[in-house]
Amino acid sequence: MHTYHKPLDLVRERSPERPVALVRPDAVAVAARWFQDKFKGDVFYAVKANPSPWAIRALADARIGSFDVASIPEIELVAQHAPGSRMAFMHPVKSRTAISAAYFDHGVRTFALDTHEELDKILDATGGARDLNLMVRLGVATEGASYSLAGKFGVPMEQAPALLMAARRATQDLMGVSFHVGSQCMRPTAYQAAMAQASRALVRAGVFADVVDVGGGFPSVYPGMVPPDLADYMNAIDRGFAEMMVHETTELWCEPGRALVAEASSLLVKVELRKGDALYLNDGSYGSLFDAAHVKWPFPVKAYRGAGAAAHDLEGTLKPFRFYGPTCDSIDHMPGPFWLPESVAEGDLIEIGMLGAYGVAMATRFNGFGEMDSAIVQDAPMASMFGLARRSIPSHRVEEEETRKVVRFSRPKGKAGQKKRRR
Ligand SMILES: *Cc1c(COP(=O)(O)O)cnc(C)c1O
Repeated sequence: MHTYHKPLDLVRERSPERPVALVRPDAVAVAARWFQDKFKGDVFYAVKANPSPWAIRALADARIGSFDVASIPEIELVAQHAPGSRMAFMHPVKSRTAISAAYFDHGVRTFALDTHEELDKILDATGGARDLNLMVRLGVATEGASYSLAGKFGVPMEQAPALLMAARRATQDLMGVSFHVGSQCMRPTAYQAAMAQASRALVRAGVFADVVDVGGGFPSVYPGMVPPDLADYMNAIDRGFAEMMVHETTELWCEPGRALVAEASSLLVKVELRKGDALYLNDGSYGSLFDAAHVKWPFPVKAYRGAGAAAHDLEGTLKPFRFYGPTCDSIDHMPGPFWLPESVAEGDLIEIGMLGAYGVAMATRFNGFGEMDSAIVQDAPMASMFGLARRSIPSHRVEEEETRKVVRFSRPKGKAGQKKRRR
């Protein structure tokens, strides 16, 4: 992958025809170090958030040695790009073939389950192994997530004690509880509340957990969705853990996906046509903009115009735009609003920020689109939970109470702006 100092340098050199994923391995490293420093336990990266080899390598380089995987291809990916890592197969529903391959071919010992049937499958497919770490996924009641993961997985709390007892009996190694409070969780106390429910289930079962896995859900920052400091989440988890009925040796695990990678990647797309406030782009909901279409998340944006030495940041009064993707499907629509200079036109390039999580990971080849390039860039992300960003949130898009946050969005301030004023 080629490295550019900043996206504008790439625009100057390449005039990209296809969408380009702009990746920032350094931003992943900063997030990884923050979690290792502040989370009082083991950090597993949830591979599904961004399975790109550069991301896995950046995490491994930053000493993330544990990965949450959900399929054999994800296991193979980690084995290839972060060899020697510990893997936890945290999908509660797995094929017998996948369980066997994980156990016998890849040395995976940690498996999640949320039914007696899945427990039987795991024991069966591993030849009655006694060295398993069995993680019971609980269906905790949660509030505060922007993207609920309840409903599909998790044993209902009234059935949890029996399953916890069965899992406890089935292994001589670790038995743990896990849950997922939902992705982009905006409330730190959701973790504490989930841990209290897990503790009650363990007490009712009369068993101790060797592992408490608080899952993922740690937020990133998007326009109109500015979460509390991540430190507040760590504090809530510390309090929750202190209140649980656990052993002194009980391990604490977490499985962040989004928070480790969201800010580390943006996407450079081309405007193929403008119709009023609608911009037709060369990437969309079947590419990296799934969340922009289906969950209607507004992402921060920035425009560039021109090619070669004449390429420059597009400036001007900001107006709200909506986007359409390249496919013929009318679902391929991203309502935004995306605030761009009012003169934005065909041929301009738009950088869409904060797409490192559930962005590239979602891309399909539908309708002949979806091919993209990648490049490393060294500038700061458009916004950051880790104090990396340089840009400020335009006031018309921010709630009063959010202005005190350290996170920054959109319009470049700094050097470019100052130079202009001096002229
Ligand atoms: C998706 C997922 C994660 C990561 O969730 P984020 O919200 O991206 O942090 C963690 N654990 C499990 C089991 C998951 O399915």
